[in-house]
Amino acid sequence: MSISSSSSIIKVSFVGLGNMGMQMALNLAKQREDELAKLQFTVYDMNEAKSKFMKQATEVGIGRSTVLQSASDLTTLAEANPDFVVTSLPTCEASEAVVGSIVNNLPPSSSATGCLFIDTSTISPAVSKKLHQQVKSVSPHHDYVDAPVSGGVKGATDASLTFMTGCSSEETFQKIQPLLKRMGKAVLPCGTSGSGSAVKLCNNAALAAQMIGICEAMSLGESLGVDPSVLANVMNVSTAKCWSSEVNNPHPIAAKSIGSGASANDYEGGFGTALMLKDLNLALDAAVEEGKSMPLTGLSRQLYSLADNRGLGRKDFGVMLQFLNGK
Ligand code: NAD
Repeated sequence: MSISSSSSIIKVSFVGLGNMGMQMALNLAKQREDELAKLQFTVYDMNEAKSKFMKQATEVGIGRSTVLQSASDLTTLAEANPDFVVTSLPTCEASEAVVGSIVNNLPPSSSATGCLFIDTSTISPAVSKKLHQQVKSVSPHHDYVDAPVSGGVKGATDASLTFMTGCSSEETFQKIQPLLKRMGKAVLPCGTSGSGSAVKLCNNAALAAQMIGICEAMSLGESLGVDPSVLANVMNVSTAKCWSSEVNNPHPIAAKSIGSGASANDYEGGFGTALMLKDLNLALDAAVEEGKSMPLTGLSRQLYSLADNRGLGRKDFGVMLQFLNGK
């Protein structure tokens, strides 16, 4: 069933209305004029965020075209027989608890029609595969897709996220696209179940080390008397050019001269050091399971962990420049 189909009502549930989920849910709940099916949108969070969502969605007029509901608990949400369940949760344990509870409380009739779980949380590939198997074991018509995101809160707000999807069939991939495209600009197929989570963790493991490399180079350059904006400009047409030098340069002077980067805003509004640490822990757990050695990622984790312990967890991960400079 898709939003562009002529079926009368599409039931979408969204669980986890935090920094990412709140913005994603607001974008997902908006009914488009060209859509034939009516959207029934139900939200749930374990805290008061669901009331905040209902208030915000109503204020911007979403309730005029979409049927908005707030579920009192996961059992009630499941019993309403959703076609799609989208989750944005902080940990593997939360995804396991939420998906497990919903799939086990769906009404018997859903086994024939099928419920499609789209988990946008960053979790381990092993847990993604386990959840896929669990959902499939309840009914072959159900499915579970891991679809972690890149783009942060800004991407969630602007609906410009990139989704990395681990999907068991082409049919399911076609079904998830209309929904994910309401929240993002790209929906990338990464392979079968667990592959979306794997790609997300590999990307962030490489990014974590990349950022530290740029921090060290920017710091050394400044000590040697080079203007940080000159150093960044030269790197950005040379071999060190990368996202951390060009888009999110950790030096505030370079970021201001480039016109982009959280460091220009005292490291506010970017990708938090604590979130990077979470992803490194997941990547290293996966490496242990696979018998892989990742010495540089291990060192990155130590450094981000020390910065987090020093109270920099909520600052953009480019704050490692200040941390390495002993500030
Ligand atoms: P968050 O902590 O702000 O929000 C998580 C929400 O889930 C909270 O509202 C919490 O109350 C709710 N929740 C937790 N357990 C629950 C449960 N059992 N039942 C119902 N609700 C529950 O996290 P976030 O920053 O929005 O991130 C969500 C996911 O997206 C995480 O996996 C994160 O790693 C990933 N992510 C975040 C960013 C970012 O910039 N924030 C970027 C990329 C990916």
